[in-house]
Amino acid sequence: MTLEFTLTRNPSPVADDARERVLAAPGFGRHFTDHMVSIDWTVDEGWHDARVEPYGPLQMDPASAVLHYGQEIFEGMKAYRRADGSVWTFRPDQNARRMQRSAARLALPQLPEEDFIEAVRRLVEVDEAWVPSGGEDSLYLRPFMIANEVFLGVRAAETVRFMVIASPAGPYFAGGVKPVSIWLSREYNRAGRGGTGAAKCGGNYAASLLPTQLAAAQGCAQVLFLDEDGTDLEELGGMNVVLVKADGTLITPDSDSILDGVTRNSLLQLAEDAGHKVERRPVTLAEWRDGVADGSITEAFACGTAAVLTPIAALKSTEEVIGDPDAPAGPVSTALRQQLTDIQYGRAEDPHGWMVQL
Ligand code: PMP
Repeated sequence: MTLEFTLTRNPSPVADDARERVLAAPGFGRHFTDHMVSIDWTVDEGWHDARVEPYGPLQMDPASAVLHYGQEIFEGMKAYRRADGSVWTFRPDQNARRMQRSAARLALPQLPEEDFIEAVRRLVEVDEAWVPSGGEDSLYLRPFMIANEVFLGVRAAETVRFMVIASPAGPYFAGGVKPVSIWLSREYNRAGRGGTGAAKCGGNYAASLLPTQLAAAQGCAQVLFLDEDGTDLEELGGMNVVLVKADGTLITPDSDSILDGVTRNSLLQLAEDAGHKVERRPVTLAEWRDGVADGSITEAFACGTAAVLTPIAALKSTEEVIGDPDAPAGPVSTALRQQLTDIQYGRAEDPHGWMVQL
């Protein structure tokens, strides 16, 4: 049985002209729409009290479990406005299911897929005016789930809240897509065998902040993590990684300690459709180094919801630079990026039925 949602409209929404100013230059993650979704869960009642309410601060007891033990998960997805004004989202079932997998790992309750999608739909419906149009703008949607039981014992909380908030997002790259250099984290891992690497939980991101600061100090926007043995590629702080060979084969790490990226899966599907071979398998750092040196690896890219696909010009570390920091974007990366954004913005046919109208 799906949940019934109640709606309480915000009595003082952001004024039209102020909203238009935000939409003209939204940036990322700083401005929020007029409403938010909440659904409560208790061990006795299950999911209940689904509601759309005015956006605003939460009142939280300082002893809430999430504040102490980080029992929290989240998702990231987008709503896109098409030239005809309609608003669509991309593969929401994938985010719903990934959140269920994250929930299982973090001992949180699983929200049914249809309730997850309905929550997103309800928020976008009431805050539709906040979905930007034009360029690569979108409304970034942030579903998340927190353990809000007031209890300092270390065990899975018996009181939980699921929420969705939304924030207009501008193009990730103001000056167009530019290949980036990324920094190899030698000292720090993101995840270990049996850990929470495959879950989208706040703790993983907390652990990535220091290595990301170190990367920034080296002029790199993102950090690449290796596995705990320091041999195999895992992923970046917030994106998956793919290498492209001269023969058109795409290679990407197969690891149970990385996030199963919706963007990566979709790009690899489009690549397969176009006749590329795709290999999901362990990929060593040595393979990347040697492949670039002998010319058998010609491109590398990072991918995720926020930036879609970002070409990686070079991988830097204290020991070496793999690739050329000044290299332009390669043809495979450029074509795949274009194909996916064309589907997302409704400029191209959607052969796999990925787009869902909100
Ligand atoms: N890895 C990590 C660690 C991420 O945070 C993200 C962004 N959600 C991704 C990969 C890419 O996932 P997706 O394509 O689903 O956004």
